[in-house]
Amino acid sequence: MQTLQPELERRRRNRLYRRRRVSDGPQGPELRVDGRKLLSFCSNDYLGLAADPLVVAALTEGAGIYGVGSGAAHLVNGHSQAHHGLEEELADFTRRPRALLFSTGYMANLGVVSALLGRGDTFYGDRLNHASLIDGGLLSRARFQRYPHGDAAFLEKRLEDGTPGRTLIATDGVFSMDGDIAPLPALAAVCRGKQDAWLMVDDAHGLGVLGSEGRGSVDHLGLEVGDIPVLMGTLGKALGTFGAFVAGSEELIETLIQEARSYVFTTALPPAVAHATRTSLALARGDEWRREKLKTLIARFRRGATELGLPLMASETPIQPILTGTEEKALAWSEALEAEGLMVTAIRPPTVPANGSRLRITLSAAHTEEQVSYLLGALEKLQGANPL
Ligand SMILES: *Cc1c(COP(=O)(O)O)cnc(C)c1O
Repeated sequence: MQTLQPELERRRRNRLYRRRRVSDGPQGPELRVDGRKLLSFCSNDYLGLAADPLVVAALTEGAGIYGVGSGAAHLVNGHSQAHHGLEEELADFTRRPRALLFSTGYMANLGVVSALLGRGDTFYGDRLNHASLIDGGLLSRARFQRYPHGDAAFLEKRLEDGTPGRTLIATDGVFSMDGDIAPLPALAAVCRGKQDAWLMVDDAHGLGVLGSEGRGSVDHLGLEVGDIPVLMGTLGKALGTFGAFVAGSEELIETLIQEARSYVFTTALPPAVAHATRTSLALARGDEWRREKLKTLIARFRRGATELGLPLMASETPIQPILTGTEEKALAWSEALEAEGLMVTAIRPPTVPANGSRLRITLSAAHTEEQVSYLLGALEKLQGANPL
């Protein structure tokens, strides 16, 4: 008789067992989790838009106009004026000819990579890329190569071989578990070189947060639109709603509409969500104060954590991990912080490499300076009792 129990037991023994917390009420720094009030430092709602009253009102308005379900896939009759208008606004925002909505970022990455590459082509991905890019690469059946984190020189050497077929290099713009920014100028230079490879950036954690009007890591690093032929972004993080998009040339978008299976064979996201995202996009672009506040909080946190001697990572983004090394320590610190009323998730393998367990602390424009001070106070207590 086949059984799943031994594998579950192994996970438990190795401290890799995962469980879900049940929250109640709107997303924000103060959450009710499993019936208890906690101050959260683990959300990706970097700009504090997920429960913004204007975005909530837009969702309600959208439901009034469009109802709830989209009814079908985009290529049947699920493509509404709300979706179409949002695509045009995302194209304008990213300064690209077109943008295409996907239901999730995971699906966008699967769809793009497998539409652009097939057998005989080559996929290169940063070792720390998000799981959805890895899975896209595997699904495409292209030759699959991971390169050392941020190592453009390594790629430069590899690409000199003159591999036949298409080549795509895919990287996170901001690495989701480390918070550092990819060396996009160096990667773009490699792609422009002999091979004419495509560079794809997944900017799930850069959009809204970095660059002018929150245009993301590409804008932050001063690159030209043409340097990044494939830009992917998500709507469920800094933009506070749900869904994802890919932006690029007319040919790219038309190719995806024809061939990206995770676009063609799935129901369009609810039009009211697209309608609400038009409002959150306008707020994300216009509310410079949200990015300014975030910068102040990041600086405040880094100063405090450095004074405590905590092992911070080289990150200027709202993702501020504290490296604990072992799973045990990450879990112990996460539990101790919870006893102080704080919610900070322990990130363990396989999300991060072996011995790379960490507390993934994230900051949001919705946090106050006092809340960051409270977090630092709790970390000080822990560091005093059992230093990292
Ligand atoms: C969250 C995330 C995704 C997936 O996006 P969803 O919309 O949540 O499916 C993809 N890439 C990166 C880097 C992410 O952080």
